Amino acid sequence: MLLEIMRNQFSTFLAFATLFAVVAPLSAQQPPAPKPQDTEVWEPVPKIVTPGATDAAPPSDAIVLFDGKNLDQWVLNRDKSPANWIVADGVVTVNKAPGAGNIETKRTFKNYQLHIEWKIPENITGTDQARGNSGVFLASTGPGDAGYELQVLDSYNNKTYVNGQAGSIYKQGIPLVNPNRKPGEWQTYDVVWTAPTFNADGSLKTPAYVTVFFNGVLVQNHFELKGETRYIGKPFYKKYDTAPIKLQAHGDHSEPISFRNIWVRELN
Ligand code: MG
Repeated sequence: MLLEIMRNQFSTFLAFATLFAVVAPLSAQQPPAPKPQDTEVWEPVPKIVTPGATDAAPPSDAIVLFDGKNLDQWVLNRDKSPANWIVADGVVTVNKAPGAGNIETKRTFKNYQLHIEWKIPENITGTDQARGNSGVFLASTGPGDAGYELQVLDSYNNKTYVNGQAGSIYKQGIPLVNPNRKPGEWQTYDVVWTAPTFNADGSLKTPAYVTVFFNGVLVQNHFELKGETRYIGKPFYKKYDTAPIKLQAHGDHSEPISFRNIWVRELN
């Protein structure tokens, strides 16, 4: 009897084993084995851009905003008349006279990569926010200091609030480190600006983000802004589509700073 049961079970096992032996290889053939080619993308081909002779020189697809010769790409912020900052020896220096003020680009931009160089005068005087203060407004949304300011200041050896030192997103983003060079030496900002987007009713859809390399050192890493930068009060967003880039003629009485080699690559 026991032998009978064992024989039956063995034959059942044999039947299943045979079935499995036939079916298993069939089902294994269903999904083809993944190939390296499955994950290769060939189109569209990124367009060719010729880099500048140095990493600071404009690449072939850049819009040059200041090449040392003139301010043809710039106007005064307050009335859009020709920019009257001082151009000499390949650099432009802030004009602090009452008849000048902030300057901004004639063109407007949305998302972009920006390169800009600036120099604090070697003989700079003043303290705190009144020592070489200027600024790069990544989007100028109106008169005066309206917009989103990446601070320019002598922060080499000059104590101030840390969310207002050079490399800060003014009163919002403290720089990760302080890579300032001495007054009298040229310094660079390389910026990636992702503009905020808005719904039709003016409410915020996606915030602004900024990444900043200061003298080649990362100081803002995809930093999310809370709105426009403001001297007094909390930041908030105001709807805009595209905007000029603006440079600040700050009202402090320290020696005016200079800029050179300004170019931008649109990322729309
Ligand atoms: Mg400033």
